[in-house]
Amino acid sequence: MDPLTPDFDVIVIGSGISGGWAAKEFCDKGFKTLVLERGKDVKHVEDYTTANTAPWEMEYHGRITQKEREENPIVSKCYAYGRTTEHFFVKDNEHPYQQVRPFDWIRAYQVGGKSLLWARQVQRWSRFEFERPQRDGYGIAWPITYDDLAPWYTHVEQFIGVSGNNDGLEEVPDGAFLPPWEMNAIEKHIQKEIKRQYPNRTAVIGRCAHLTAAKEIHREQGRNQCMARTRCERGCPLGAYFSSNASTLPWAKKTGNLQLKTHQIVSKILYDPKTEKATGVEVIDAYTKAVKRYSARVVFVNAATINSNSILLNSTSERFPNGLGNDNGLLGRYLSFHNYRGQVTAIHRGAPEAYYYGRRPTSIMIPSFRNKTRQDAAFQGGYMMFYSATRQGWTQQQEGAAFGTDYINKSAQPGPWSIYMMMQGETVPQKNNRVYLSNQKDRYGIPKVTLDVGYTQNDELMLADFLEQGAAMLKKAGCEQINAYETHQAPGLDIHEMGGVRMGNDPSTSLLNQYNQMHLCKNVFVTDGACMPSTGVQNPSLTFMAITARAVDYAAVQLKNRST
Ligand SMILES: Cc1cc2nc3c(=O)[nH]c(=O)nc-3n(C[C@H](O)[C@H](O)[C@H](O)COP(=O)(O)OP(=O)(O)OC[C@H]3O[C@@H](n4cnc5c(N)ncnc54)[C@H](O)[C@@H]3O)c2cc1C
Repeated sequence: MDPLTPDFDVIVIGSGISGGWAAKEFCDKGFKTLVLERGKDVKHVEDYTTANTAPWEMEYHGRITQKEREENPIVSKCYAYGRTTEHFFVKDNEHPYQQVRPFDWIRAYQVGGKSLLWARQVQRWSRFEFERPQRDGYGIAWPITYDDLAPWYTHVEQFIGVSGNNDGLEEVPDGAFLPPWEMNAIEKHIQKEIKRQYPNRTAVIGRCAHLTAAKEIHREQGRNQCMARTRCERGCPLGAYFSSNASTLPWAKKTGNLQLKTHQIVSKILYDPKTEKATGVEVIDAYTKAVKRYSARVVFVNAATINSNSILLNSTSERFPNGLGNDNGLLGRYLSFHNYRGQVTAIHRGAPEAYYYGRRPTSIMIPSFRNKTRQDAAFQGGYMMFYSATRQGWTQQQEGAAFGTDYINKSAQPGPWSIYMMMQGETVPQKNNRVYLSNQKDRYGIPKVTLDVGYTQNDELMLADFLEQGAAMLKKAGCEQINAYETHQAPGLDIHEMGGVRMGNDPSTSLLNQYNQMHLCKNVFVTDGACMPSTGVQNPSLTFMAITARAVDYAAVQLKNRST
């Protein structure tokens, strides 16, 4: 590795949602880009091996056996894990980690990362997400505002394709949307009752990364209109939902500037104290365990929050004995997540004549209505709700509760509506919620990840509020048999982990500046969830993409000016 002539302009670690975006943006701008991916290749369409498999073509109709569940107690908790998707998940024994407190770490090691599996809900964060932590005293100031990110949200939305309505709500800003999905009769009824009975609460159709009407830019990517098959997690042969595999990576490849290497586990970033910069990375080949080095002028870290933290923690040197850029000892700390512990179920007997056809890859969202312009609740931060309604007979069919004549009868008399509601709550970043490296090594000789993360009293108060409010709202909308309960799930199962390498204005309390550049190692950028100083209320991945595109834009100027 010759430091004077690096192998590449840029190395991107990880090919998932954020890494795919980094690769696309750099390649579009003409930079020679190496993407290093620890997992296998997954070719768009060709490797979606279960995309068209029917239940009767699979053993146990596609269900996971009790034995398989016992062998994978962590990953099998994920709702998307099953016979048709298991090959896209990391099994429990493939990359073991240590838990001081229970944490369900759900991972996907392959080209595309979790972009193949995600639920595709994409709301912009609002100015409240960026302002509230400092305003209400539960976090450091974000070094960027909503206005800094707004043009990048538009940039990303136009490329990935986002369906939704421009609802004119400050809590979930409008965007560049494709046509929205439709609500059914009871969902509309609940929406109407919420609006009528709660002046500051609104229910709107969820915004999701699906092509409800493919535009020229999507056709150029080789993607097509969504047919609402809702078999998304198996990989979509139409490329109708956004994944790195269908969108950013093939686009980057077409530029001729991309090199993608699979089975390459980045163990550390290499640092040169003379230049005070990174020279490249060290990788371990997942098959041969051979150690190799690649050099570049800039390194983008996009291995997903916890792995990005662990790579940086393992990047020790004489200058940085506790991990790259970690003079303040905060690397790995303030690891946060979303609180998903509340759910409400109910039935509604209204609209007996109404039915609906087909499926829909999104639900209804109720944006956060707590602590909007000032803290007015007993807890800090906000939460949003999602709900949907299905005909009960249909639900029973799906669950396999009806067969033969019973099945036909239930289809003809679908019964009342089943209502399902869930919460997504902001968690307050805690210094003691953290990831660190163990003395034990994994099979590649890399220190094992240790997770010490838990809920706080704030989460309990927020959960109680959701359960009370969710039940009351459904009651006021005429629902019956309301059951508000907590799932007792551990952190991690939300799969929205964030933090550990947070952005900030002050190098004594943060690791990255406003462009995601390490304060103490200027050619290393971290643009996945690890960079987030707080979790906000909304789903995070759209923000990871927008932040990545913005950081690339900045890094590209530095590269051109030779100042990085
Ligand atoms: C079932 C499910 C539902 C979800 N629903 C939503 C949703 O509706 N909305 C939303 O916003 N988010 C959702 N998410 C979360 C979303 O998928 C993640 O936030 C997003 O994928 C994170 O992007 P990333 O680039 O940081 O990580 P990933 O997409 O996970 O990609 C990281 C990549 O880095 C690779 N890697 C890791 N370590 C190394 C290493 N040492 N060397 C080389 N490569 C490495 C991995 O193999 C992987 O390919 C969901 C996730 C799941 C699983």
